[in-house]
Formats: sequence, C-alpha cells, structure tokens
Amino acid sequence: MATEAVKVAVRCRPLSGREAALGCRAIVGVDNARGRCLLRNPSAPAEPPRQFSFDGAFGGEHSTEHIYNEIAYPLVEGVMEGYNGTIFAYGQTGSGKSFTMQGVADPSSQKGIIPRAFEHIFESVQCAENAKFLLRASYLEIYNEDIRDLLGADTKQKLELKEHPEQGVYVKGLSLHAVHNVAQCEQLMDTGRRNRAVAFTLMNKGSLCSHSIFTVSMEICTLDERGQDHLRAAKLNLVDLAGSERQSRTGATGERLREATKINLSLSALGNVISALVDGRCRHIPYRDSKLTRLLQDSLGGNTRTLMVACVSPAGDSYEESLSTLRYANRAR
Ligand code: ADP
Repeated sequence: MATEAVKVAVRCRPLSGREAALGCRAIVGVDNARGRCLLRNPSAPAEPPRQFSFDGAFGGEHSTEHIYNEIAYPLVEGVMEGYNGTIFAYGQTGSGKSFTMQGVADPSSQKGIIPRAFEHIFESVQCAENAKFLLRASYLEIYNEDIRDLLGADTKQKLELKEHPEQGVYVKGLSLHAVHNVAQCEQLMDTGRRNRAVAFTLMNKGSLCSHSIFTVSMEICTLDERGQDHLRAAKLNLVDLAGSERQSRTGATGERLREATKINLSLSALGNVISALVDGRCRHIPYRDSKLTRLLQDSLGGNTRTLMVACVSPAGDSYEESLSTLRYANRAR
C-alpha cells in the first residue's frame, strides 16, 4: 500500500546550449524501459556508472505531456475520486523544476504539470455525471519557516499553523478563492507569483529561496441511486520547492546561510517523511519537523498519493548535486 501511495520519477533535462558550448560532457544516462538512471563520475571515468531505480525515468526526448500521462494523470484522477494528492519537483536550481511544473507554452507538449492538472480537473468536473463540485484555491509560501498568504490582503503578514481536532492542520487566516475554470486558477497563480517576486525584490533576495504550495481544494457532492447526497473532500497540492543545492557550493554566509539551513531543514524533513512512509514499518512519521511537512501532513501518506519528480542536469560539472538528488529521490522510494 505505502509504496503505491508514493511515486518517484527522475527527469534529466538535455544539455543546455551554454553547457554544450563550454564542452560539458553528459554524465547521466536514462533507461526509460527499466525506470533506471545511470550516473558516471567524471573524475573516475573508468568506474562503472552508479545505478538508481525509480517508478519512472525520463530523458531529454520525453515531453512533459508524456511524463504527465504516465505518472501524474493517475494521481489527479485519484483527487477527483476524493483522495488527497501532492506533486512536487526536487532538484538543484537550473535542473528543470519550473520547466517540469510550470513548463512552456510552446511547444504545447512541454506545457507544465500544473497547467495540465488544472485542465484535467476542470475537464473531469465538466464530464462528471451525478456529481457537483465546489473548487477553491489557496497559495502560500514558506520562507525561513514563516508562512505567508500569496493571495491575501496583506502578503507580508505571517500566518500561524493551527491544529483542529477533526480537520487537522490548517493555516489560520489563509484566503480561499472560488475557481470555476482553468483561467481563474492561472490568474491566481500569476497574482501569487507576482506577490512573491515583489516581496523578494523588497528584501533584495533571489526568488528561489522559498517553498510555495498552490492548493486546489474540492468538495464533491454525489447523488446515489436513492437520490441521497454524499459529500467528500479532497485536495491537490502543487508544491514548488526551493533549489536543493548545498550551502558549501553556493558559498552562503550570514543571513543567506541561515536561510539555506532552513530550506535544507524543510527538504530533509520532507525526505525523512517520505522515506518513513515508503518504508511502511515506521510507526512514527516525523511530520512535525518542519512547517512544510506539517502543512502537507494530510496529503502525504495515509489514504493519499504523492509524486516526486527529481530533476537533474546531465552536465559533468553538476555531478555532486545530481548524485545528491538521486540519492535523496532513491531514499524516498
Ligand atoms: P529550475 O526551476 O530547477 O531552477 P528551470 O526549469 O528554470 O530550472 O530550467 C533551467 C533551464 O533549462 C531553463 O532554461 C529551461 O527552459 C531548461 N530546461 C529544463 N528542463 C528542460 C527540458 N526537459 N527540455 C528542454 N529544456 C529544459
């Protein structure tokens, strides 16, 4: 059961024009048929490559459309049936997380997982017979373990995590926005992203050092044969994680280092929760170790589905980061 609930895929992007121009060699190989990823150590070319196995392995020839249909589609279908779901991309900055989650409009096969999920949800809503849906969206960010509402009246205000005996963990004061179509979801996402960017410009920081969660919550009302209503609730969390690069490489000091430590705390807490869930034998799942994992508590494990897409660059100079991403993702399996 537990292994079914968590799926991990790896996506290796093509060498970029800049990497190719610099003469970088590709050190990552993908065996799509076996779901394997192979990594060569550029400092030890005679050594056999390390092998890692996943629920899916995709290379430069695989479009986001292909990846969505193989691994994200069933998760979103599950949400429409009432199971909570979470999708996130993990990897160093520049490895293809945004390309995978947000994607590009042209070519349409590279449209991201997020817009595809929005389309999928509203198509299902339109096709559903004997069911009514109430859909609402929220968008928050976690920066330095502080939570802010990216769609709230005051995006600078810190919000508190609370626990309700029946409803579980929630963010007090987080705004919820009714959505009726894909365009409204995309508009909210754009507004949230702009608010995020403005806040970071004011603080004079890059926008990559926070995690954000866009959640589509739905209440599903179905009619049974006797004409009675049944109410279910489910949500889909689309998580944009900060880059996983290690501090030693970024050369961070002072405030930046503290920030990086907190980013890494959330990422390692997430890795620990997922590997405890996958293990299945652990009684204690360490959700409480970070705001990110506490917030996602009702959408990770139990009767829910999680998809992690680990993104790597193929370039030799990213060897250490790619190794650490593949280890993280492999542990989560
Ligand atoms: P991240 O969000 O992890 O920092 P990006 O998604 O911005 O990384 O990707 C870095 C660069 O690589 C971008 O220019 C992006 O368009 C390109 N890229 C990433 N993945 C792919 C892919 N699968 N195919 C083609 N280009 C890609």
